[in-house]
Amino acid sequence: MSKAAKNVRDACIYCGTRKDLTSDHVPPKALFAEPRPSHLITVPACRPCNKSYVKDDEYFRVAVLAQAASEQDPAAAKLWSPEGSTSSPVRPPGGSC
Ligand SMILES: [Zn+2]
Repeated sequence: MSKAAKNVRDACIYCGTRKDLTSDHVPPKALFAEPRPSHLITVPACRPCNKSYVKDDEYFRVAVLAQAASEQDPAAAKLWSPEGSTSSPVRPPGGSC
């Protein structure tokens, strides 16, 4: 492994710090049922950055599952459509949760 590649692996992929590193799963491990495969891809992320994406990971999981459910259930499809709900399942850019 080159020195440059090792330096990247020893730093948070999001902010570059080398302190308090954890392993962030990409894609999020929440997408996999237990027992999870042992070969999931991880990237180094400091604990604050890794923790900051927890709600985004959960939102992504729910959006994927809701879309999959709408393909099998007409009632779910209606809720997912713009005509079936008074709120949009699409997260506004830059908006708060
Ligand atoms: Zn970080």
